[in-house]
Amino acid sequence: MKYYSTRDESIKISAAQAIAKGLASDGGLFVPESLPKVTLEDIAALINADYRARAKSIMSLFLEEFSAEEIEKFTAEAYGDNFDCEAVAPLSFVDEQTAFLELWHGPTCAFKDMALQMLPHLLTASLKKTGEDKTVCILVATSGDTGKAALEGFADVEGTKIFVFYPKDGVSDIQRLQMVTQSGENVGVCAVVGNFDDAQTGVKRIFGNSDFAASLAERGFFLSSANSINWGRLLPQIVYYFSAYCDFVKSGKLALGAKLDFCVPTGNFGNILAGWYAKQMGLPVGRLICASNENNVLTEFIEKGVYDKNRPFHTTISPSMDILVSSNLERLLYAIAGSEKVREYMSALGEKGCYHVDEAVLAAIKADFGCGCCDDAETKKAIRGLFEEKGYLMDTHTAVAYKVLCEQREAAEANPAVIVSTASPYKFAVDVLDALGAEVGEDALSALSEKSGTKIPAPLSGLGERAVRFDSFTEKEKMIEVVGEFLK
Ligand SMILES: *Cc1c(COP(=O)(O)O)cnc(C)c1O
Repeated sequence: MKYYSTRDESIKISAAQAIAKGLASDGGLFVPESLPKVTLEDIAALINADYRARAKSIMSLFLEEFSAEEIEKFTAEAYGDNFDCEAVAPLSFVDEQTAFLELWHGPTCAFKDMALQMLPHLLTASLKKTGEDKTVCILVATSGDTGKAALEGFADVEGTKIFVFYPKDGVSDIQRLQMVTQSGENVGVCAVVGNFDDAQTGVKRIFGNSDFAASLAERGFFLSSANSINWGRLLPQIVYYFSAYCDFVKSGKLALGAKLDFCVPTGNFGNILAGWYAKQMGLPVGRLICASNENNVLTEFIEKGVYDKNRPFHTTISPSMDILVSSNLERLLYAIAGSEKVREYMSALGEKGCYHVDEAVLAAIKADFGCGCCDDAETKKAIRGLFEEKGYLMDTHTAVAYKVLCEQREAAEANPAVIVSTASPYKFAVDVLDALGAEVGEDALSALSEKSGTKIPAPLSGLGERAVRFDSFTEKEKMIEVVGEFLK
């Protein structure tokens, strides 16, 4: 199967090239030329398979140049005992109609692990297949979750290095400790004086500096990124939609072939887009509900067909969804409207910060997607409400989706549904405790454990006692020197 750029169908490359390159040279994103079809018999055959086998079966459809043995090895390593439960991505039912798909049982307790435990395997194999002989250095600017998940994925992976910049005062204590105590011989972490935008702008500048790239090449290195525009991050996410469907059927609560809705807490549109691909492939999905926090640019887009990033930016208790430009939306627009329209939309977005789609495109989007949003107060109310009613604890991001789903169900009859749960409540312990009306105290993790009667996930317990390996910080102008030093 070949891959196109969303902005130019004449650029046609292999899966390995798409993964090795990340972004197309015209600024577009790589997408498969067509989507493989999966039948109900195919799905039936996965119901009694484990997560690794499900991943192998789905991912193989997209990776022609990779052998079955290769993909089996990747799935065994990516989804093994680095996850704290055998199911890898278990469903947790709260009633006959409703389950949470817990994507946070990996090493960093957030759903980014589902893709970033797999990406290093796909990327290193792709570099070999494309004949790249230099060492890749993954450069990341993070607002919290991605940095740690990328570090954990690439730590001690042969033929790779990874360096992460985070905003000095822009991440939570837990997130910072997770990063500065990271193990691995090939990793580096540094704080940037400034906010996330400063860190991200600095990283983009380093990527755009051709003199620097030339000097790195002389030393045998090249830079690459691990953010969610890489096809190698999207593909592993398609798997868990199939897996959730299989587990729902296996529970006896859904007939094979019946429709299942998914409600997804959304930021960059990567997670929910993987669900849409699963539906196009033949998974019986009803509606995909796009849930946003107060940064509700996607709610407005799906309701009215107008994408307008000219709006106030809100800092919320679900920070991984505080995004105004959802880059993966471009892949959906390409599939519905084609590359010519995508070029128009993206240049309008660049020039005016705004674009709108016509009636036909909007109707096609509405046929598959629902949407809704809620603010911090409603999010907290949802956390407390579900905990008191059912004893189930969710994090601040997942709670946005739960709240939006409940609202939609009040408005109209709907299918059974899966809420995609993207982080462990412990990762956002302070706000979760606050939502429960409990004292936060000195040690939020222990307080949450006591209050909820659940265990602190192993990767987060004892974080404070681990040795800090990376305590340096830099002014944003000097980030490039820090990377130069790292790759000496
Ligand atoms: C990244 C992230 C999201 C948003 O996912 P997208 O793929 O960017 O839409 C939601 N919740 C958590 C906890 C995340 O880390």
